[in-house]
Amino acid sequence: EGEKSLNFIEHIIEEDLKNGFSKEDLRFRFPPEPNGYLHIGHASSICLNFGLGLRYNAPVNLRFDDTNPAKEEQEYVDAIKKDVSWLGYKWEHECFASDYFQKLYDWAIFLIKQNKAYVDSQSSDAMAEQKGTPTTPGVASPFRNRSVEENLDLFQRMKNGEFKEGEHVLRAKIDMTSSNMLMRDPIMYRILHKAHHRTNTDWCIYPMYDWTHGESDYLEQVSHSFCTLEFAMHRELYDWFLDQVYDESKTRPKQREFARRNLSHTVVSKRKLLKLVEEGVVKSWDDPRMPTISGMRRRGFTPESIRNFADTIGIAKRENLIDVSLLEFHVREHLNKIAPRVMGVLDPVKVVITNYPEGQEEWLDVENNPEDPDSGSRKIPFSREIYIEKADFREEANKKFFRLKLGKEVRLKGAYIIKAESCTKDTDGNITEIQCTYDTLSKSGSGTEESLRKVKGTLHWVSVQHAIESEIRLYDRLFTDESPDTHKDKDFMEFINPDSLQVIKGFVEPSLKDANIGDRFQFQRMGYFNIDTDSTSENLVFNKTVGLRDSWAK
Ligand code: ATP
Ligand code: MG
Ligand code: MG
Repeated sequence: EGEKSLNFIEHIIEEDLKNGFSKEDLRFRFPPEPNGYLHIGHASSICLNFGLGLRYNAPVNLRFDDTNPAKEEQEYVDAIKKDVSWLGYKWEHECFASDYFQKLYDWAIFLIKQNKAYVDSQSSDAMAEQKGTPTTPGVASPFRNRSVEENLDLFQRMKNGEFKEGEHVLRAKIDMTSSNMLMRDPIMYRILHKAHHRTNTDWCIYPMYDWTHGESDYLEQVSHSFCTLEFAMHRELYDWFLDQVYDESKTRPKQREFARRNLSHTVVSKRKLLKLVEEGVVKSWDDPRMPTISGMRRRGFTPESIRNFADTIGIAKRENLIDVSLLEFHVREHLNKIAPRVMGVLDPVKVVITNYPEGQEEWLDVENNPEDPDSGSRKIPFSREIYIEKADFREEANKKFFRLKLGKEVRLKGAYIIKAESCTKDTDGNITEIQCTYDTLSKSGSGTEESLRKVKGTLHWVSVQHAIESEIRLYDRLFTDESPDTHKDKDFMEFINPDSLQVIKGFVEPSLKDANIGDRFQFQRMGYFNIDTDSTSENLVFNKTVGLRDSWAK
């Protein structure tokens, strides 16, 4: 293993091991709430936790934090499992906080019996008012000193469904004067008459995050529980709840915090991403413009590129904004190694090679990937009529234009040298056809002197009669602002880029007829593309994954 320096999380673990914590007892978890699809921020957390598992040869659980039936669905559970697997990780156990509902309930009864929890029957507004402020103490609820018997009775009746939502809550009896507002008698349970995607209507009281998370870690004997910085203040409560149930012979989980990862020109919050789906800004959670793992997969990103990205940005103690071009750099770098080269013309103009016999065709041998010696070669058809990109021809141009211009030569990739002789225009002056001649002895790889002749430009092309007309989806940033959800006076929805999707018709070489959904290619000179899930054998659909170089630099 390389001598990569340790991040601060690894330092915490190393320190624990030095102080006698047994390596065999290391255990981690990734704890998503199934209320949406995972995004690139989650990828950082996945790579952190599963990366630690690999580094220390320790188990990592996938734990669904499913305590809010109002927002959670089985669809999300399935999507999350698919995404974590696709990223290349294997979890030890698939766990659900909902599997611990009975245990948590029993522990709540235990707390009530010790006079450490009570049923509060005030409105949420009244409770909020009594909370106080960080600099003024809170006011005790008039129900704070209910008897154990009354609390037991009410809590059981809450569970039995005798009350409406909001009528009662169970609160931990901690300290209404604590300087940590979260310690001022936090709510442990609320009534929710909602069916849960796993426990159905078994429960109508649901445990709160703080009460659930640490106890779930403890039940699974997770040694190190990593969460994002906004939970730093929750750590005291996490520890208080653990103190109530902790048994010395067991591993005591430790919560530690790291900074949330933010990516430029997008939002990484399930709630906001859901809004984009619900309001039709994008078509679905896996729309290729989305920063979701499923969106990136559909777009053609590879798991390796996402892992390499997460690895490069590492783990931080402070929040910052990571430029999306860094993610794209990793995608490009990996695709350069693995993506077969093909030819596709996205904005075509017809070229007629006037000295090439009508009706003749030949199949030329071209290499699949110069970066991969094992990738072999394939045949592509050449004929009298081809398409090239409109932008690759000008009637006149200066010396720096190394593409086709009247009277000058270029090489057609893998084929012949052609020379532009004339062109035809429509009444608006648009070029509709270019007439060329070809050098009959210049075929690439034929070994003739002419085939080795150096001309300045090389163009990609496709044979008109053989090309497959395809739908090509081009993507731009989803937001025009670098950090759309950080403006005080403006909602992130105000920064949506209206031109984030452009659908065009292009022509691709016939070898792509047999490609499968998800297959990735480099369209030579044009970028990386993959076959979209909407693609059919009658209508090929490509996504542009990323360009060949960073067009956003400077
Ligand atoms: P969201 O606001 O998108 O719902 P969340 O934190 O509520 O985010 P969870 O499903 O609770 O989402 O997240 C699972 C794990 O992933 C948590 O440990 C969380 O801290 C971590 N995580 C979520 N977002 C990020 C992010 N942007 N960067 C790093 N880790 C993240
Ligand atoms: Mg959460
Ligand atoms: Mg959330």
